[in-house]
Amino acid sequence: MSGVFEKTKYFIVDMDGTFYLDGTIIPGADEFLKAVRESGRDFYFFTNNSSNNVEVCRQKLEKMGFPVDENRVIISSHVAIDYIKRNYAGKRVFLLGNERLTGDFLKAGIELVNDNPDVVVLGFDTTLTYQKMWDAVRFLANGVDYIATHPDKNCPTADGYMPDTGSMIELFAASTGRRPVVLGKPMTATVDYVKNLLGCEAEELAFIGDRLETDIAIGCNHGIPCALVYSGVTTPEMYAASSIKASVAEENMKALIKYL
Ligand SMILES: [Mg+2]
Repeated sequence: MSGVFEKTKYFIVDMDGTFYLDGTIIPGADEFLKAVRESGRDFYFFTNNSSNNVEVCRQKLEKMGFPVDENRVIISSHVAIDYIKRNYAGKRVFLLGNERLTGDFLKAGIELVNDNPDVVVLGFDTTLTYQKMWDAVRFLANGVDYIATHPDKNCPTADGYMPDTGSMIELFAASTGRRPVVLGKPMTATVDYVKNLLGCEAEELAFIGDRLETDIAIGCNHGIPCALVYSGVTTPEMYAASSIKASVAEENMKALIKYL
């Protein structure tokens, strides 16, 4: 049909609100991924949610009846670890993250400290305490370098919103005036990370997702095809009112099969 994905080798697919919702595959989303493989292309999942690790995502997908290899799941935390290894090799990191994120940093050989850090890393910390916020604010006020894994302000759940990393960025900005180097979608560091990982050019990627400021902006900002799906946080009304425009916008992933 349309040539929008003509150059695409790899679809980079968001998880929550795009592939599944509340623990169930969105009808036809798995058919789309099957059609992607049949068309000679491939796909990877990418989530900004740094409160999860690969094993948690893999188990979640398996439970839904969609088993994948763990290397098929990419998380904003991977981009952050790569960024730290490139820019802060051997440096001391104060990490705001739960045990999954902390585990991934330690596995990557990054030194985590509670005092005198060289860099503060803000992740989606579902175990955040007042003491951790207080410590982070002390370090930031002293001018310590500052990174955030992703910019999402809220994480949608079956029970409504959970305050996500972007909300904590605002809290720390209110207290200290500091803003982090943000990673994850829609940032250039993420495009570079995925390109290096897959050994491809930017124009051989295509992003699919439900959130305009992350999943679609990463495409728009880097000249990469991107598909918006209305199966998650964005309604057609919200899309019409937004300045962020996707290459195509459809009801769900199943409706994207016609572009393959
Ligand atoms: Mg999403």
